[in-house]
Amino acid sequence: MSDGRAAKRVAKFIKPLRVKPGSTVDLTEDFDPRYKAGMKKRDGVELLRTGVSLLADLQARLAAQDTYGVLFCLQAIDAGGKDGTIRHVMSGVNPQGVRVSSFKVPSAEELDHDYLWRYAQRLPSRGEIGIFNRSHYEEVLVVRVHPENLDRQKLPEEAKGPDVWQRRYREINDWERYLTDNGIKVVKVFLNLSKEEQRLRFLKRIDRPEKNWKFSAADVREREHWDDYQEAFSELLSATSTPWAPWYVVPADRKWFARICAAAVLAHTLIGIDPQYPSLDGQARKELLDARRGLEAEAP
Ligand code: AMP
Ligand code: MG
Repeated sequence: MSDGRAAKRVAKFIKPLRVKPGSTVDLTEDFDPRYKAGMKKRDGVELLRTGVSLLADLQARLAAQDTYGVLFCLQAIDAGGKDGTIRHVMSGVNPQGVRVSSFKVPSAEELDHDYLWRYAQRLPSRGEIGIFNRSHYEEVLVVRVHPENLDRQKLPEEAKGPDVWQRRYREINDWERYLTDNGIKVVKVFLNLSKEEQRLRFLKRIDRPEKNWKFSAADVREREHWDDYQEAFSELLSATSTPWAPWYVVPADRKWFARICAAAVLAHTLIGIDPQYPSLDGQARKELLDARRGLEAEAP
């Protein structure tokens, strides 16, 4: 397939997943976690293989060009499939060009700073793909669903009012715009899992010894806040899908399909950058040719 046709195919494939900037999202109504674009798993697995090699080529060029960085943010409810998505989607790319950062409950040092500080420290450099496994969006998710997290953030009184979430949306949008303007592209994927599929995945984590480590009793307690999370996700998707950093809602009930979607969203961003291997100017080319002659002359 030609590059142009591949680019068009990727763009068409991800279009239904994009949250239109300015639209109001109701997660339970607007996005179906079981959607699979009429695809069969067998074809999907083949397509992912194609996507992974496309990503490998794009990433090599991104690194060589050394001008743009890509920040890939992954958010999901527990058992949404973030780890497996990262493992599969990035399976073909050069590990030297990728940095994965996972964000947990903030440390004392992190709480002693403004809330975006720890995320800013993990940003990708130019030429790099940075993956956020959870991201700054936890600051309007878990922190919102459990406000005691906000109390721990040691904010001044005037920064804690009822408008704190609206303010954070604005600050996040501004930050992402700043990054984009400076050559760090921001890509955001939400793995949208159904409540029933979460139940089934939790059961597997309990029943299979090799999966036990992935489960904690706290996960079931979080599940009781399912509706609060759906609401918090709906609001953030509505408020922070911007022309410079739109959200993609990826149907996550079928892992194989979620992985194709995530790969396609990342590929779409890289295709948009269209990174090129640097080409040499006249002087550099002459030096190269001189070096070549020297090496040839050394031949035994
Ligand atoms: P896991 O990804 O399963 O290892 O869990 C990480 C935990 O850290 C989750 O329960 C998140 O909700 C929590 N977490 C991540 N970011 C924050 C944050 N900014 N404030 C409070 N808890 C967080
Ligand atoms: Mg967990």
